[in-house]
Amino acid sequence: MTAVLDLTAVSIRYSRDPKVAPAVRNVTLTVEEGETLGLVGESGSGKSSLAAAMTGLLPKSARVDGAIRFEGTDIAAMAPDARRRLLGASIATIAQDPFTSLNPVVRIGRQLVEFQHWRSDLDRKARWARATEMLKQVGLSDPEMRMKQFPHQLSGGIRQRVAIAAALLVAPRLLIADEPTTALDATTEDQIIELIREAREAIEGAVVFITHDMGVVRRLCDKVAVLYAGEVVEAGPVAEIFTAPKHPYTKALLACDPAEIEVATRNLPTIPGTVPPPDDRPDGCVFAPRCPEAMAACRTKDPALRNAGPGRTAACLLVEEPA
Ligand code: SF4
Ligand code: MG
Repeated sequence: MTAVLDLTAVSIRYSRDPKVAPAVRNVTLTVEEGETLGLVGESGSGKSSLAAAMTGLLPKSARVDGAIRFEGTDIAAMAPDARRRLLGASIATIAQDPFTSLNPVVRIGRQLVEFQHWRSDLDRKARWARATEMLKQVGLSDPEMRMKQFPHQLSGGIRQRVAIAAALLVAPRLLIADEPTTALDATTEDQIIELIREAREAIEGAVVFITHDMGVVRRLCDKVAVLYAGEVVEAGPVAEIFTAPKHPYTKALLACDPAEIEVATRNLPTIPGTVPPPDDRPDGCVFAPRCPEAMAACRTKDPALRNAGPGRTAACLLVEEPA
């Protein structure tokens, strides 16, 4: 089966100059149909750069090495126009702030009709009806009234529901959600997570969920890739990584999630220090300055991502590869 999304050795630089330090380094990931992949990291981890690369939204000056295949087609190698057409009809994004996807001065109804511009088989009336129905599906009880409102008249939670409806109107194969619940209260967050779960079933595609919150990953995702300073430091099935994390950074992130405190290094409820910038990385393991398990070798030897069990990888000198 062709993966919905497949990244092979992807590096991203915010310059054409290959000597500039990459913000994303050598990332390899696969998301199959029916899967939700969590991309986790603090700010500066490279998760937003990866999201931009997946959606074709990197600035023109950026340089992408490696392959980003959407259903087998390398979108990193495509001409911008062809890429825009492909992505517009098959990849939808839900952003942290729905104002970035909704125009504040245009009524919801008109925007949802315009989102369907590529559906040349539907006239305006049919698009309007489809949009109204979609608002009902995302749990809005008064869709006709919402169609007539402006985004600023809606609460954050309702705006995010409208943004999800807009994404679903594209009927995407891939839904990329970039911190969609960060600005919401806990109850609304639960509802939006449930809605994204339903959305994945409705589109029969895949979801990439970008977040810094391991609790959300545990509830929603099948697989997780933990990013640190632009690299994947641990990846694998959520069920296994949450019960037996192997990389000290994953352990520390889980320690920040109160529900997972029992599997975590208890003395590390937060992670002191910050992610190093691309052009100021330490020698050896990039996590060494913050790692509670660092050894002398970690200061000189860069641990490559290694096999850490079935379907799992981790980049740490303490991880022994299975024989
Ligand atoms: Fe920590 Fe060393 Fe493993 Fe890096 S290689 S994560 S410093 S133990
Ligand atoms: Mg970000």
